[in-house]
Amino acid sequence: MTEALDLLAIGAHPDDAEMTSGGWICLAGQQGYRTGVLHLTKGEMGTHGTSEERVAEATEAARIMGCSVIEFAGMLDGRVSDDFDSVALVVNLLRKLKPKVVLAPNERCHHPDHESAARLVRKAVHFASLNGYESDLSAHRVQRLVTSRYSQHFEPSFYVDVSSVIEQKKQAILAYKSQFQTVMVEDGKPLTRMSKDGFIDQFLSITGMFGLKCGCRHAEAYRVESAPLLLDPIKTLSEGPAQHLIR
Ligand SMILES: [Zn+2]
Repeated sequence: MTEALDLLAIGAHPDDAEMTSGGWICLAGQQGYRTGVLHLTKGEMGTHGTSEERVAEATEAARIMGCSVIEFAGMLDGRVSDDFDSVALVVNLLRKLKPKVVLAPNERCHHPDHESAARLVRKAVHFASLNGYESDLSAHRVQRLVTSRYSQHFEPSFYVDVSSVIEQKKQAILAYKSQFQTVMVEDGKPLTRMSKDGFIDQFLSITGMFGLKCGCRHAEAYRVESAPLLLDPIKTLSEGPAQHLIR
């Protein structure tokens, strides 16, 4: 029987989870939690890299982040859907992996697959908890569904300080070597956003901006639908920098 996960990050394409939530995944691993990544597709429609390369790169990225589990749902890039069969597939994976916390994409994003994945994960988390939802595996209740920040801004519910693991996150993203190749001259394909010189540092400046907002060097922003219950509010609210240092 699979040992339960503490944190499961779900992304539509290999590299989505690393780019949006890689810091928290690395941090959770360092804190002794069991973490995993579920890639819904293998990124078959990507400008660069074959699906075999993306799988190998995702496996290396998961190793760098210290994940115990990496799964591929076998959906097709560009066809991520929240239809019945897709929900049933993710319900089964949630019931198998038993995550306490699930990280999902933001429902508003430039990429239709990301938006579909967000709806799909929301439905699957709901139905995975219902005894009446038929499956070979018993019901599993996810404690908290958390939305990661994608390309569209949202008002975060909380930040996670990822300063201590920012280099680890960077290495996990760079594991996707095929996405960083500048092959425009060799094969005539256009440069993608990721293959432009200096992309990774520009991209990580987002965590620097969030760090500025919450008073640390690098942070990732997350959103939850309902306010979390604090068991020790004094401890939680007095951790980290004082409010007057936050911009
Ligand atoms: Zn993506």
